[in-house]
Amino acid sequence: MKRHIFRAILAVALAVEAASLVLIVWVLHDFFEERVTEELAQSAAYIARGIEIHGGAYLTGGLPEIKRITWIDSNGAVLFDNWEDSAGMGDHADRTEVRDALLLGRRTAVRRSDTLGQKTAYYALRLSDGTVLRLAEDQDSVWMMVLQALRPVFLMVALALCLALWLAGRVAQRLVAPINAIDPEDPGGETAYEELAPLVGKLRDQNRRIRRQMADLVRQREEFNTITEHMQEGLLVIDRDTRLLSCNKAALELLGAEETPLGESVLALDREAGFRRCVEEALAGRAWETLLDRDGVCRQVFASPAERDGAPSGAVLVILDVTERERREALRREFTANVSHELKTPLTTILGTAEILENGMVREADIPHFAGNIRREAQRLIDMVDDIIQLSRLDEGGFAGSWEAVDLYSQAARVLEQLAPAAERRQVTMTLEGGPAPVWGVPQIVEEIVYNLCDNAVAYNRQGGAVAVTVENGPEGAVLSVRDTGVGIPPEERERVFERFYRADKSHSGGGTGLGLSIVKHGAAYLGARVALESEPGKGSAFTVTFPLARS
Ligand code: ADP
Repeated sequence: MKRHIFRAILAVALAVEAASLVLIVWVLHDFFEERVTEELAQSAAYIARGIEIHGGAYLTGGLPEIKRITWIDSNGAVLFDNWEDSAGMGDHADRTEVRDALLLGRRTAVRRSDTLGQKTAYYALRLSDGTVLRLAEDQDSVWMMVLQALRPVFLMVALALCLALWLAGRVAQRLVAPINAIDPEDPGGETAYEELAPLVGKLRDQNRRIRRQMADLVRQREEFNTITEHMQEGLLVIDRDTRLLSCNKAALELLGAEETPLGESVLALDREAGFRRCVEEALAGRAWETLLDRDGVCRQVFASPAERDGAPSGAVLVILDVTERERREALRREFTANVSHELKTPLTTILGTAEILENGMVREADIPHFAGNIRREAQRLIDMVDDIIQLSRLDEGGFAGSWEAVDLYSQAARVLEQLAPAAERRQVTMTLEGGPAPVWGVPQIVEEIVYNLCDNAVAYNRQGGAVAVTVENGPEGAVLSVRDTGVGIPPEERERVFERFYRADKSHSGGGTGLGLSIVKHGAAYLGARVALESEPGKGSAFTVTFPLARS
C-alpha cells in the first residue's frame, strides 16, 4: 500500500512538473520570438534610415551578417539580399510580409522560408520610395535562446523531482502509519481515518467472535478430555492411514503403552494379528470386534468406521477390560459342569439303590438300610439344590430378604442349638461367648454365614474336639469368630476352600456340598462383611467375620 501511495504521489508530481515545463517552454518561446521580432523591427528602422540617406550602397557598406537583409522593389523584384544572390531570387511580391508591407507599411510574419527552407521570423518595412526592406532571422536562434533560458529551469526541475521523491516517501509513510498502527488482535475503538472505522469495527467483531469460538472450542476440548480421561474404556481415534489422532489414558494402559504416539501408526501399540484385523476391517468400512487375551488381562476391542462425506475417513476404537467378565464366564461354565457332575452322583446312587429294591434283590431286613441310603442322598440333593439357589441369588444380587438389624449373638445361639445333635454324635463340645452384637443385614444371609461356619467346625473336627464361637462388638462392627480343634486347612488351600464345589480333604468331606464356604464368602460380600481364615493343619481353624457397623 505504501508503495502504491508513493507511486501515485510521484506520478502526480511528475505530471505537474512535465506540464509546468511545457508551459515554461511555451512562454519562453513566445517571449523570445517577440524579442526577435522587436529586434528585427528596430534593426529594420535603423537600416531603412541608412538607405534613405545613402541609397542602396548603404546595404553593401559592411553591415553585420547576423540577420538576413532583403531589399525588394515595389514590384516584388529583389534588389539586394545579403545571404543569397538576388539575381537568382524570384518575385517576392507574393510573400505575405512583403505583400502586406506594400499595402500597410509594415508587417511581421513567421513562416517557412522558401529560399532558406526553414522556419523564419520576418519583418517587412515599406520605405518612402515604395520599396520594401525585409529583415529575417531563423527560428533556431529562438530555440537556442529558449534552451539557454531553460538551463536553470532544468536544475529546478531536478531539485523539485528530488523533493517530490522525498515528500512522496514521507507522505506515503505518514498516510500508512495509522493503518499499520492498527493491531489486528486488538484494533481498539478510535482510528485516525474515519473511513477505516467500519473496517476496525468489523475486525473488532471478528476478534470477539473468534475469541468466543476459541473459548467454546477449548471448553469442548476440555470437556471431551475430562470425559475420555475419566473413562474406564480405552478410546482411540485414527485416520484412514492408521495414524493415531487421539487417545485416552485408559487406552494406553489397556494396551500397555507408556507414551502417546500421536501421529504414528496405531498398529505400533499392539502387534497382535487380531488387533490389526480389527483396524483394517474398520478402515474398510466394517464394524469389527476382537478379544485380546494377554498377560492375564483380557481386552475386548470394538472398531467402528468413521465416515466423512460418505467416504471412510478413519476409525474409532473402544477397548474394554473384560478380564473380570471372562473370569466370571469361565467360573460359570465350570460351575455348570460341576453342578451337573455333583447332582449326578447322588442321583446315580438313588437310581442304583432303587433298582436293587425294585428287583427284590434285598432282604426284608436290609430294606431300611437301603431306604436310608436313598433318603440321605435325596437329602444331599436337596441341600445342594438349596445351596445352589442361595448362591445364584447372591450372584445375581437379587436376594429377596429385607434388610434389618439382626443380633449376631442370638443367631449364633440358635445355630448351635440346631447343630447340637450332630456335635453330640461326634462328641464335640460347643461353647458360645460374648454378648449381643447388632448387625445390619438380611437375617437369612446372616444365618447362612453362621450356620455354614459352625457346621464345618463340627464336621471337620476330631472326635471329642471343641468348637468355640465368640460374638463381640469390635471397633469396625460386630465380629463373629468360629474356632475349632479339627483337621485344619493347609496354607495352599486357604483361598481355594471358598471356591464352589471345592473340598480340601476328600477323606474328611463329611458329605458336604462344597458350597458352604462359597455361600459364606458371597453372603459376607453381599452384606459388606470381611472373612478371614487362620488355620494350622492338624490343630484347628479359625474363621472370623467382621461385619460393618450396624446403622443406628
Ligand atoms: P463342604 O460342604 O464340603 O463343607 P465347604 O465349602 O463348606 O464345603 O468347605 C469346603 C472345604 O473346606 C471342605 O470340604 C473342607 O475340606 C474344608 N473346610 C471347611 N471348613 C473347614 C474347617 N473348619 N476345618 C477344616 N477344613 C474345613
